[in-house]
Amino acid sequence: MKAIYADLKRARMRPTSSRVAVLQLFHEFPYEHLTADQVFRRVPPATEQCSLASVYRALAQLLDAGLISSAWIGEQRVVYELNRGTRHSHLVCSDCGTVRDIDDSALESQHEAIAAAREFRYASASLVIFGRCAQCEASLDSAVRRTGALHGVDRRAE
Ligand SMILES: [Zn+2]
Ligand SMILES: [Zn+2]
Repeated sequence: MKAIYADLKRARMRPTSSRVAVLQLFHEFPYEHLTADQVFRRVPPATEQCSLASVYRALAQLLDAGLISSAWIGEQRVVYELNRGTRHSHLVCSDCGTVRDIDDSALESQHEAIAAAREFRYASASLVIFGRCAQCEASLDSAVRRTGALHGVDRRAE
């Protein structure tokens, strides 16, 4: 809790209940990616004056202060996470929406090289790779096996 107040103080932000509650959540789950709606639903219900609008406001302010970061992950989804000080890209499961970090310095230097080759000074990149996570892939596999088995029955019946 002390770290939260110190962070806000350093960012010259008044520790309002919604800012504290939102930042606290990201400190508790430093590797989670949450939409504004998910943040709202996870903020302790006892938090004073914590409407969805105040959560949005707190997110925007914490983002401005660099205490959290955000990433666009396709369609209309934006997720927020604790700013851990490392730039990274994201891998998103198109089935269940799971978001994983890609911490790959080789990728970062490649972004830099691509920009430099076109006489751009690299600032940041927003890369999202879409795919299917191992869990969804496994459940798809077993679904295919199940339908495969059914087809086997059908064929025997013909
Ligand atoms: Zn998945
Ligand atoms: Zn991330």
